[in-house]
Amino acid sequence: MFVAHFDVDAFYASVEIRDNPALRGKPLAVAGASRRAVVLTASYEARPFGVRSALPLYRALEQCPQLVVVPPRMAVYKEVSRDIFAIFAARGHPVEGLSLDEAFVACGDATFDEACELARAIRADVLAATQLTVSAGVANAKMVAKIASDSCKPDGLLCIAPGDEAAFLAPLSAGRLWGIGPKTQARLEAAGIATIGDLASLDDGSLRELFGSWSAHVKALARGIDMRAVEPDRETKSISSEETFEYDVRDEGRLVAVLREQARDLARALAREDLSAQTVGVKIKRADFTILGRQTHLAEPIRDARRIFRAALHCLRRAGLRGEPVRLLGLRVASFVPGEPKQSGLFDPQQDAPPAPLS
Ligand SMILES: [Mg+2]
Repeated sequence: MFVAHFDVDAFYASVEIRDNPALRGKPLAVAGASRRAVVLTASYEARPFGVRSALPLYRALEQCPQLVVVPPRMAVYKEVSRDIFAIFAARGHPVEGLSLDEAFVACGDATFDEACELARAIRADVLAATQLTVSAGVANAKMVAKIASDSCKPDGLLCIAPGDEAAFLAPLSAGRLWGIGPKTQARLEAAGIATIGDLASLDDGSLRELFGSWSAHVKALARGIDMRAVEPDRETKSISSEETFEYDVRDEGRLVAVLREQARDLARALAREDLSAQTVGVKIKRADFTILGRQTHLAEPIRDARRIFRAALHCLRRAGLRGEPVRLLGLRVASFVPGEPKQSGLFDPQQDAPPAPLS
């Protein structure tokens, strides 16, 4: 499953330049007026002077006397942010916001090429709607997607194909890995470890010496393996219904009957909350406790039990169980929009073939 990471380039500064073109091409900092003010965002023209976020403003002015300083307009940035997040969510994919201008978007069952195309389309939509450039990274791991988008700024798109993660990360500074702060980085440098590739090639013993119980995690991250899923924002959390069977179930008919019941439960829950859902997913725990998930993003939000069931059945069939024993079956709905849906309930042909008709 691919993840796209989006980050608007020099967000506050870019909004100021958009709204006042006289600022274009100048070294610009958005910062408050107090003596202790720090730079909130610097334009790309200011960055060669070492002016960047969190630098005290007096220092920024020492380093770049011609720096143009404008006060922040948070209300405007929040409004622009709402427009951008509406675009991130417009295709029904789960969105995990990290800040006003930065988010992960889960690409669902998209192939690599489809995920890259999705990122390209979202970048184009943001530019058309806001005149702002957003850089994007696509990869099969959150951390890799974020490092990719950071690496192609400004106005870039960098897609890391499956299998290329380790090679992409190898030449980068070890401090780019999540969880490696300046202190750890200094300690690594003292040990002759400068790049992520240096870390990835360490043997287990050296890794344990450096990182203790955290070493397996660091080893995986250095190879671009990061299993964290996109976690949609709280207000778009999911509702689910699960059943653990007393005896493992192999019979598909029985699983289908359980899904039908769960779809009714979820439809009632959605009605209660006055929400409609655009994502439907099934969770299957096999007899050996491994978990299998399949989900589908719908072109339009749904609420009624029959449509939820049809989407769930589609997911179950795609799981390809073929009589494997199942210990637990769960159904969840997510990607909520308020209110009742319009009545057509089509599947997005880009995402999914229509489900098989009900038996
Ligand atoms: Mg940004």
